[in-house]
Amino acid sequence: MSLTPAPSTDENIERAAGHLRAGRLVAFPTETVYGLGADARNGEAVAEIFAAKGRPAFNPLIIHVPDVETARTWAELGALAERLAAAFWPGGLTMVLNKRVGGELSELVSAGLPSIAVRVPAHPVALSLLRKANCPVAAPSANRSGHVSATTAAHVAADLDAAALAMILDDGPCAFGVESTIIDARGDAVQLLRPGAVTIEALAKVAGTVVKGASASSHGAMARSSPGQLESHYAPAKPLMMNVTQPRPDQALLAFGALPEGYAGEVYNLSPSGNLTEAAANLFAGLRRLDETTVKSIAAMPVPMDGLGLAINDRLKRAAAPRS
Ligand code: AMP
Ligand code: MG
Repeated sequence: MSLTPAPSTDENIERAAGHLRAGRLVAFPTETVYGLGADARNGEAVAEIFAAKGRPAFNPLIIHVPDVETARTWAELGALAERLAAAFWPGGLTMVLNKRVGGELSELVSAGLPSIAVRVPAHPVALSLLRKANCPVAAPSANRSGHVSATTAAHVAADLDAAALAMILDDGPCAFGVESTIIDARGDAVQLLRPGAVTIEALAKVAGTVVKGASASSHGAMARSSPGQLESHYAPAKPLMMNVTQPRPDQALLAFGALPEGYAGEVYNLSPSGNLTEAAANLFAGLRRLDETTVKSIAAMPVPMDGLGLAINDRLKRAAAPRS
């Protein structure tokens, strides 16, 4: 059974905002495509986004905020970003910026990266929802992984499992129907990561040069923080071994479920009860924590290959891959 979309009345927007604050998922219209939103401070709610979409990998998500002032509380806007925000927000431009330290965003939103992608959408229903929810909203497109982005509430209802989300706010078809343009706005020049609703010509008028960066594929951020340096994804500096059931004493343990009998070493348990949603929410914080210890390497216990386990194992595999 699919979920019946709710008309975007003030009352329904208020209800949707309550769902977001309570850690549930809400699909909502923007001028580009429909978004599948969750409170970006709530790791388990963000993990549910990946589960609902059936995404086999954790790629970083865009956070949505109602205005530039709020954007400044979560990200650092340099001179270039401020100019672009003044010209294109609210609108179809997403900027990758440095994350503000000490913020309370879930590590899963940015997939462990020190940067964060931020957008102020122009759709009145999206803006009203963001104001009422009063929290940063992580939202990829509201469709199953590998399917086209949903541009009507009926698409969302047909594509996503009714049990996965609390509500679909319906405000008719999206005006643009293509995703936002994503740029890296941390340096002196705009680096285009994904073409979209805002054209390169429009960006160039405000920013001067637009460098065509590595494309941001749907399978992961390919942001260049400086030429020659590919900041494709977060991985711990220490070597990591997967599917370890008997860790050595010189290894820190990334645990899942019950600890191995008698183990007394350094440990971070992703989920003592073996819950994949909780494990996904804790994954990047856990890797970072163990990376900061003095042990030589990290041993990750087996994580089952179902549901969110696919994305967790994908990330562990990348962390385990030999690096130069
Ligand atoms: P979607 O949520 O499906 O519209 O996709 C968002 C895209 O934004 C991802 O595929 C990433 O490539 C890109 N993105 C989000 N956050 C970052 C980031 N911190 N650095 C680079 N790219 C990002
Ligand atoms: Mg998408």
